[in-house]
Amino acid sequence: MASEKLGTVAVHGGELETLAVPAVCTPIYQTTTYRFDSAAEAAAYLDAPEGRWLYSRLENPTVIAAERKIALLERTETACAFASGMAAIHAALTGHLQAGDALLIADTIYGQSTRLARTLLGRFGVEIIEVPLLGLAEGVARAPAHARALLFETPTNPTMRVVDVAAVAAACRARGLLSVLDATFATPVNLQPATLGVDLVVHSATKYLNGHCDHLAGAVAGSKAVMAPVFEVRRVAGANLDPAVAYDLLRGMKTLEVRVLRQNATALLLAEALEGHAEVARVHYPFLRSHPDHDLARRLLRGGGGVLSLSVKGGYPACARVHDALRLVARASSLGGVESLASIPVISSHRNASPAELEAQGIDQGLLRLSVGLEDPDDLLADLRQALEQA
Ligand code: PLP
Repeated sequence: MASEKLGTVAVHGGELETLAVPAVCTPIYQTTTYRFDSAAEAAAYLDAPEGRWLYSRLENPTVIAAERKIALLERTETACAFASGMAAIHAALTGHLQAGDALLIADTIYGQSTRLARTLLGRFGVEIIEVPLLGLAEGVARAPAHARALLFETPTNPTMRVVDVAAVAAACRARGLLSVLDATFATPVNLQPATLGVDLVVHSATKYLNGHCDHLAGAVAGSKAVMAPVFEVRRVAGANLDPAVAYDLLRGMKTLEVRVLRQNATALLLAEALEGHAEVARVHYPFLRSHPDHDLARRLLRGGGGVLSLSVKGGYPACARVHDALRLVARASSLGGVESLASIPVISSHRNASPAELEAQGIDQGLLRLSVGLEDPDDLLADLRQALEQA
């Protein structure tokens, strides 16, 4: 940024002077539109928009800076930022699907992603085929000829199941399917799915990338060729990230690795300390030996992530008492921020799931999900222990 032209200011009765400020931080380009010096320059934009500026739904320097950082973190050629994670998922899918196609979705993905697929894409003639999380590669191999893409997540919410991402991506490639992985829970610190062959990596940047529970944001990352239709959806549908939010997202990402490594460590500490607690039937955390995907998770992920779930003995009434007794941990949905949050899946994210779906996903009535923040780990453990006394 050091010698970049940062804009113009009016001086001495209308003359314009170019500012070049070697700012350490990327400035917020709070502008919807950009000046042209001449008609020739305006005309040149349409011939070769690269490196030129027209309108902030098409390009904005602060947003581009955030996108470059996400692409660097994900080891992809490019990334496209959105106003929310759902806008990012919407663009990734609608950019690549059309009427008559089938979309495979893992049976354990974010509820609103299932809803987006079924109620929105379904209305436009895309067939939705649910595939069991534990048989994704096999499901892809069996997919009908009109299948075009697979949407899946790792680790999953709230039991942190982990799938063999490289095997699933390879199965998709062998069948000519686009692999789309929502890696919100993993973060690019713990997993870089594109290096394992995933075509499009999706994030609710609302969570760890921004990391402070103060903005909605989303991103899709991938190669330039696969991302071209995703950028096109944003250009025409306009779910753009605001430049002021892009600035905060950039600031959040400066501390991403420090935050996530600490959250990995604290979550593992809490998981180990609470496994075997008299009021806890089971702790779900992928770096615990008792987790069904422990070996795979240790091979695949740098850390187990910042989310763990406790199955409180005594079912929902006991779980609700523990939830209500928390003092330091906030009772709130969402995850990935610096404050620890607790929620109960059966009354929130999985409220509409059938008993069979809950059982298939290992979610019981007493499950308490924790998103670990940056508080002192001993304080968090003390809070959870005192709350568990209420069970
Ligand atoms: N993907 C996952 C895994 C999520 O947990 C969420 C939100 O909770 C989303 C996508 C949607 O993101 P947003 O709320 O930013 O639209």
